[in-house]
Amino acid sequence: MKKIIKNGTIVTATDTYEADILIENGMISQIGKDLSSADAEVVDAKGNYIFPGGIDPHTHLDMPFGGTVTKDNFETGTIAAAFGGTTTIIDFCLTQKGKTLRSALDTWHEKADGNAVIDYGFHLQIVEMNEVILKELATVSKEEGISSFKVFMAYKNQFQADDETLFKTLVAAKELGALVMVHAENGDVIDYLVKKALEEGKTEPIYHALTRPPEAEAEATGRAATLTGLANSQLYVVHVSCAEAAAKIAEARNKGIDIWGETCPQYLVLDQSYLEKPEFEGAKYVWSPPLREKWNQEVLWNALKSGQLQTLGSDQCSFDFNGQKDLGKEDFSKIPNGGPIIEDRVSILFSEGVDKGRINLNQFVDIMSTKAAKLFGLYPKKGTIAVGSDADLVVFNPHAERVITSDADHMAVDYNAFEGIRVKGEPVSVLSRGEFVIKDKTFVGKAGSGQYIKRAKYGETLSAEKKAVPQS
Ligand SMILES: [Zn+2]
Repeated sequence: MKKIIKNGTIVTATDTYEADILIENGMISQIGKDLSSADAEVVDAKGNYIFPGGIDPHTHLDMPFGGTVTKDNFETGTIAAAFGGTTTIIDFCLTQKGKTLRSALDTWHEKADGNAVIDYGFHLQIVEMNEVILKELATVSKEEGISSFKVFMAYKNQFQADDETLFKTLVAAKELGALVMVHAENGDVIDYLVKKALEEGKTEPIYHALTRPPEAEAEATGRAATLTGLANSQLYVVHVSCAEAAAKIAEARNKGIDIWGETCPQYLVLDQSYLEKPEFEGAKYVWSPPLREKWNQEVLWNALKSGQLQTLGSDQCSFDFNGQKDLGKEDFSKIPNGGPIIEDRVSILFSEGVDKGRINLNQFVDIMSTKAAKLFGLYPKKGTIAVGSDADLVVFNPHAERVITSDADHMAVDYNAFEGIRVKGEPVSVLSRGEFVIKDKTFVGKAGSGQYIKRAKYGETLSAEKKAVPQS
């Protein structure tokens, strides 16, 4: 069925203007003043912004970790994402040494297909690199439209890959047209510091942060950047948490290395002191890299504003406080790493970013949607509002005020990391390919309506520019 969104203010990464949007067959077919169509459903968006649907390039749904599995799966996680104004996620498909990439992808499709309510793609984890894997990688990346590979430099004896694997992956990615993503922390050094702390009887959640110092993140970030330059390849550093790591990225960019940086809402508004909350409550804020000292927040905001960091991922990886996080009650290293962030990513960026004057409205759209679409081969199908693009749209009321609480959110876990934070602005309605997923703050979508997206190669959509010129 056709729809017309009337009277809203359209905001893209480059433009802000008032116009109507005609939607046909899941796509935007016309943008202009006073559009009408006899058989179209009219959606009045007066007083609201219309944003392209958010793209969350960093999620872990239905993911096994530390002897348990994330509470949010592809159904609950994508419903929460939609409530928050996100219409596309890219989730990390984990692989195992000695097993085929195909088997890992089959497992991830089983988790997502038929369950997701918004569109999704997969990044593919690389744990080892040899002739067999290289050959299979060339095949599956093409078949599945996967143009991003993930390498962990931390989590020793679990996910961590060595420098040889990272370097070979960088070389292969250049060849195959993919972006290499790194979790940049020095896993060997962290492993030593964790063991030492535990030997000294330091078991509380705060030691999670103290055994993963900013230097460990900065060192790995700089090393990955150097190896990227050496391989003449391309790199995306996930979840940059601190000034030292952001500086390594800026330094490499200044040298002409093709490197991009993502931060997350939690690093922009929460800080290391949260891990010191009494009664083990600090465990709610255990993820890696850890929360940093508060002064880092303004450095990260400035890096987003200046373009030295470009995207915002949620790193959604949710575990219940009761029954999952408490696996580490006697030993911080056994606390499952991760937090529930997927629903509040866009709201935090708008409220703390735009409303508080740290970034402008177009930068906001670029950071929460457009840049990720360009980097990960989704643009201009996703990530903008233009004729021919998917009608993935968010009707957003910039004046609404609310307090974030676990009671009101839609994630499956028993707490919210942003509990009690007052935010300005909220998504009212959210459309995925022209169909309402959220209508007037109510979920009206259905499990399985989200589609798997095959993505273009790295670079092909990076500098594309599609302007939505109003036709009046
Ligand atoms: Zn992650």
